[in-house]
Amino acid sequence: MAGLETAAVVTVGTELTTGHRLDTNGAEVALALAHAGYIVSEMVSVPDDRDMIATALSDLIARRTLVVVTGGLGPTHDDVTREAAAHVVGRALLRDARIEEELVARISPHREPSSAVSLLHQADIIEGAVVLPATTGTAPGQIVDHDGHTLVLLPGPPHEMRPMLRVALAGRVASAPPVTLRCVGITESDAGHRVLPQLERYPGVDLTLLGGPGTVDVILVSTTGDPGPLEDARAAAEQALADTCFSTDGSTLAETVVRLATTRSAVVATAESCTGGLVASAITDVPGSSVMYTGSVVAYANDAKTALLGVDPGLLAAHGAVSAEVAAAMAEGALRLPGATVAVATTGVAGPTGGSIERPTGTVWFALAATGAATHTEVHRYGGDRGMVRQRARTTALDLLRRTLLES
Ligand code: ATP
Ligand code: MG
Repeated sequence: MAGLETAAVVTVGTELTTGHRLDTNGAEVALALAHAGYIVSEMVSVPDDRDMIATALSDLIARRTLVVVTGGLGPTHDDVTREAAAHVVGRALLRDARIEEELVARISPHREPSSAVSLLHQADIIEGAVVLPATTGTAPGQIVDHDGHTLVLLPGPPHEMRPMLRVALAGRVASAPPVTLRCVGITESDAGHRVLPQLERYPGVDLTLLGGPGTVDVILVSTTGDPGPLEDARAAAEQALADTCFSTDGSTLAETVVRLATTRSAVVATAESCTGGLVASAITDVPGSSVMYTGSVVAYANDAKTALLGVDPGLLAAHGAVSAEVAAAMAEGALRLPGATVAVATTGVAGPTGGSIERPTGTVWFALAATGAATHTEVHRYGGDRGMVRQRARTTALDLLRRTLLES
């Protein structure tokens, strides 16, 4: 089978190349192109500079079937993508009367006349281009054919870019879209070691590993567009990743927990110390969580652990707040919340201060209590800063819930 068509993404904006704004369009466009059956071979950001934009475009359009550009279509002096693209394809910019009329109708009477004039530049269309009408902003997008290659110009603001990108790619669906196996409780390198040997049997399937706080996305991409080997590789990878793999349809860990609890009629409660409500927040982010979630107790101080969760002060004195005993008592306290059938608790040292020889920064104890079962505890030692420790602890707490629900 022939290889896939290649594409390039160009994001235009001095705010991107100076680091003042994170390029999110590039990632969104690249993902959409992969699902539309292209291999994205190059991605560049260039400042709002006509010559630099033109150099990048003429270079890329020569090599790639499709070049998608975002940014620089607005009305201000630094919006020069239209001019640069017209120059590259050697065509004129023509004022489109209908678009101009629409823009005029939208110009506020309070605008300075000179700024009103510059607004109308957005009605300048490259000769022969297909116009992508603006639905949320004012600048239309444009699709230009050039020697059998295609240049797509889209506005910079993500909420304007997104609907136009969908229109530009409408009808194009990859024969073998990328597959993402989401995993938890496994390191990036272990995931790689499990999956890579499987892929030797499937040439034309590439692997990308994407680590998150406690999660790894194993992404399989077909370089040929042939769905057979990709499907076989997915099955082999899923088997190799075993119970670390929690989703193959893009669902998050919290969504997985909500689905599992809902189908099992379980009701989850949480007791959080070092995660301060992050587990509760992740669960309640998911629509429909109200049927499977009763609530959370954020008990940070020792006295609060006693007052709100009934943790015996003797346990706190004997073992310290960051201990198996206190984690277990917290989870058992949360299990007394109305309706709860499963409860998870977190207590740890998120740092940067508060660590000790026995309990270094990053030490987090977890407990899982469920009606009619013995309470389970486990400890993890995470690296990273305070934010990372808290996020990884949230992931582990959700994974404990997932594993318990799977077995119930
Ligand atoms: P406008 O009519 O808003 O001027 P435009 O097409 O000229 O539209 P830009 O001026 O390049 O777009 O960008 C407008 C805003 O859109 C930027 O300030 C930025 O907030 C956002 N933006 C632009 N490019 C990107 C990008 N690649 N990733 C994320 N946000 C972006
Ligand atoms: Mg602009």
